Amino acid sequence: MMEKPDLLSFTREQLRDYAVSIGEKPYRGDQIFSFLSRGVRYEDMTSLSLALREKLEAETEFRLPTVLTKKRSRDGLTEKYLLSLIDGECVECVLMRHDYGTSLCISSQVGCRMGCRFCASTLAGKVRDLYPSEMLGQIIAAGNDSGERIDKLVLMGIGEPLDNYDNVVKFLRILNDKDGIGLGLRNVSLSTCGIVPGIEKLAGEGLPVTLSVSLHAYRDDVRRKIMPIAKKYPLDELLAACRLYFDRTGRRVSFEYTLIAGENDSREDAKGLCRLLREKMGVASHVNLIPLNRVEETGFSAPAPEAAERFAAILRSEGQNATVRRSMGADVDAACGQLRRSLQNKGKEL
Ligand code: SAH
Repeated sequence: MMEKPDLLSFTREQLRDYAVSIGEKPYRGDQIFSFLSRGVRYEDMTSLSLALREKLEAETEFRLPTVLTKKRSRDGLTEKYLLSLIDGECVECVLMRHDYGTSLCISSQVGCRMGCRFCASTLAGKVRDLYPSEMLGQIIAAGNDSGERIDKLVLMGIGEPLDNYDNVVKFLRILNDKDGIGLGLRNVSLSTCGIVPGIEKLAGEGLPVTLSVSLHAYRDDVRRKIMPIAKKYPLDELLAACRLYFDRTGRRVSFEYTLIAGENDSREDAKGLCRLLREKMGVASHVNLIPLNRVEETGFSAPAPEAAERFAAILRSEGQNATVRRSMGADVDAACGQLRRSLQNKGKEL
């Protein structure tokens, strides 16, 4: 339980109310909101009176993560951060420099309880949810450290965003505020393993984020073998929710498909995937193929190097829009949860 108010998790309206509640004018709330979004420490908020700065310091909490370690890929394009939260837990985020701009992949929980069999983030279960401030804090910390402006954000790091629904939605609203970080939500992708009620609810929030759904199989039996969530929400229900998301938001849904050797990478799988998406989604979908980043403990193997392109070619020949995710930063353990995992394996000596 948190005792002190966590101001970076406040919307601008909440900060105005807070300012009034401590005897200040509402516009002070706007000022504080904009300072916090840039990671300005209380002592440096010099347009506030010293008395107010001291009060904020004493009575509130500023949950800004700090950089514990960072690793840069050999090509210099990827920066992987391990960040420490104020209770000593840690999460990862990954900054990637593309020709179209800089993207940042952030975490939504400390650990994950979804149990996908091939994923490093979930091996030790979930520790706790992240607060909005700790998701914003990853953008602030990586932005300040790298000096880069973040153009695109993906919620594809550690954790299942729709298993931390309220904090994630609040985070998106604060992120979008033009007096704060001000990132347009069309530049944000949220990735889910397929929590159907969460997708349905998100469709009604009026937040135009791109929904990415981790499909990984076109058949329920194959999907259940690699993703426990598939036992709860079969493909029929999942794709109906995706269709609803498209109908409500007008945003084309993106499907992630991690290729795992011998599990879901055959020609038949590619054809089955096309059939399924055509039937359930019409033209409203995009497939993003991800060659498995092998995680030692899981026992699954990556497909042959050319397998992803071959799979993509079949999808395209069937008229299905598809891309292969460029494997960036494999030399910095950039796959989900690998850096935090390697820290855990070292016995947390840091
Ligand atoms: N919980 C969310 C977001 C986190 S993971 C979700 O499941 O979508 C982001 C994507 O990476 C998901 O599609 C996930 O299945 C995939 N992924 C996880 N571990 C992977 C690995 N070792 N290799 C390739 N893809 C992986």
